[in-house]
Amino acid sequence: MDFECSACRAVQPASPRVWRCANCGGVLDVASRAGFAPDLIETRDPSLWRYRAMIGTPEGAAPVSMGEGLTPLVPATFAGQQVHFKLEYLAPTGAFKDRGTSVLISALTHWGVERAADDSSGNAGASFAAYSAKAGIAAEVFAPAHASPAKLAQIEVYGATLHRIEGVREKTTEALEAAVAGGVVYASHAWSPFTLEGTKTIAYELWEQVTGRVGGAAASPQSNGAPDYFVSPIGQGSLFLGAYRGFKDLAAAGLIGRLPRMIGVQSTGCPPIVEAVRQGRDRAADIEKGPSLAEGIALARPIRDREILQAIRETGGDAVAVSDEEIRAGQRALARIGLYVEPTSAVVAAALLRCRLPGVVVGALTGSGLKSTM
Ligand SMILES: [Zn+2]
Repeated sequence: MDFECSACRAVQPASPRVWRCANCGGVLDVASRAGFAPDLIETRDPSLWRYRAMIGTPEGAAPVSMGEGLTPLVPATFAGQQVHFKLEYLAPTGAFKDRGTSVLISALTHWGVERAADDSSGNAGASFAAYSAKAGIAAEVFAPAHASPAKLAQIEVYGATLHRIEGVREKTTEALEAAVAGGVVYASHAWSPFTLEGTKTIAYELWEQVTGRVGGAAASPQSNGAPDYFVSPIGQGSLFLGAYRGFKDLAAAGLIGRLPRMIGVQSTGCPPIVEAVRQGRDRAADIEKGPSLAEGIALARPIRDREILQAIRETGGDAVAVSDEEIRAGQRALARIGLYVEPTSAVVAAALLRCRLPGVVVGALTGSGLKSTM
């Protein structure tokens, strides 16, 4: 298989050592992606690997799976509107990250990688540590020392070597790049082309769920197979972009008439995409990062900023910034209907408390409340 640069379109053979474009340093994608083919769904597999024929992995790679994906879609009345919550926190490590990690670790295992590293503020690191443990890969995780103690504990309990880095988030990335220069395989959740190959399956699932093919009754009798709105947090945007690509695949296959409006939520402490939308830019805006409860999405420079902004423009979507006060209110309001998520995920609820959206609304709840206490 090959990787293709998302910026200059240069193609190079896929390998565990290649994590960005050799030509321009841009972020890579899996080249020649398969698209969505409903006839190829392995309907008896209750995980995202039911879409195995559509997921880009090295040829012959066996899934490293713990049942990730096929998360429940739960209808609820929330803030006076009908919302379908996609319970992404019901994943093996308590966060949606397992979608991408399962695909990534499957590739690394196929390639015989024995030592790999990731940098993460928490959930991606925990997911990486867990799937590495499952696969027998020695994992090293570089995380900011100020990250949630519960998340750091989770990373360590899986047996990963945890490097706690003092200072701003970007210092963590620098420390990791030094380790990679020393020979460890960089298996970055943010950079890896395999991440979006995993997260795109959320859209495929929504199509199966919304049309009633799996998981009981259809979400809406008038539905054309996709929600009208898809709301999710944006840090690096891996779930947001995975969903966007998955919906594009569904549209290309003629299964949905139009793309859902993609609504991305950030915190007022770190809103580079919200500011870019407001200013009409096609790259993330330069922002001064402030404190925020939503630590998991506090990224000043999302790597795939161009595609995130394109997704918002193309779908008639938007980006919203919510305050800590709104995040707390959103977390409480969700818990009062039985859904307990961490603050980073509660940004979606905060946005829904403020914005009334017409039609079928899907809100992605990305991380479990058990990962943090307020
Ligand atoms: Zn390039």
